[in-house]
Amino acid sequence: MPIYIKNAKNFLTKSERFNYTCNPYGGCVHGCRYCYAHYMSSYRKEKEPWGSYIDIRDFQSYTIPKDASCIFISTVTDPYQPIEATQLKTQKALMALKDFPHKISILTKSTLVLRDIDILKELSHVEVGMSIATVDEKFRQVMEKNTSPIQARLDTLKKLHDAGITTYIFICPIFPKLTNYKKIIQLSKDFTDYYMFDFLNLRGQNKTWVLQEIKQHAPELYPLYEQIYVKNDDTYLQYIRQSILDYAQKEKIHLKSTF
Ligand code: SF4
Repeated sequence: MPIYIKNAKNFLTKSERFNYTCNPYGGCVHGCRYCYAHYMSSYRKEKEPWGSYIDIRDFQSYTIPKDASCIFISTVTDPYQPIEATQLKTQKALMALKDFPHKISILTKSTLVLRDIDILKELSHVEVGMSIATVDEKFRQVMEKNTSPIQARLDTLKKLHDAGITTYIFICPIFPKLTNYKKIIQLSKDFTDYYMFDFLNLRGQNKTWVLQEIKQHAPELYPLYEQIYVKNDDTYLQYIRQSILDYAQKEKIHLKSTF
């Protein structure tokens, strides 16, 4: 696996949506077939395909801009993908934020976040989220083969919650007829402060990858996926959206809108 060290001026990047973001790495080896960040590889001079390289961002400065009021870690990589175990770029970023008085939101699919539990406990407004798209391990291995198993992610979230850290689950992406959001909620509601959800964001190559996997692993659902993602008919997605809202209300689950 090619690994590159890339100079990066600052560790925080201004963002319209999040205020500031921190992406300690470029690329991600978690191997999610639906990854919307795959377009990032087109900005590199090297030509490796998405998922087959890592850029380690060598931050020249850990300065926190004066207008920073919220920092999201990360948007186009997983901050706790395996290389973080040895490179510690995410950990260093958290340490640089130790006196940051505003919200820091971390989103990962990895149990490695637990390594930093003592640092997280020191931060004043931190929350840790797990992305979970399925409770079916076989389907996880098809769609996101290098991520932590689902039960391990849930166990991690519970340990963080027990340590007093705010936790959330991002039910994402929702695969029509395959994402059992009720089960995700039932398995986690005792240690999850709130939920968000979002649908597949299929643009470019990831549409081809996901549709190929559905055709192979759930061929009976292929016509539905084609209707939604090829013919752009979102009727079924609207139905799921309303079902989730209704279920959250019935179960008294704190559901926030998507990012
Ligand atoms: S963990 Fe996130 S960034 Fe990494 S491959 Fe999966 S969706 Fe993409």
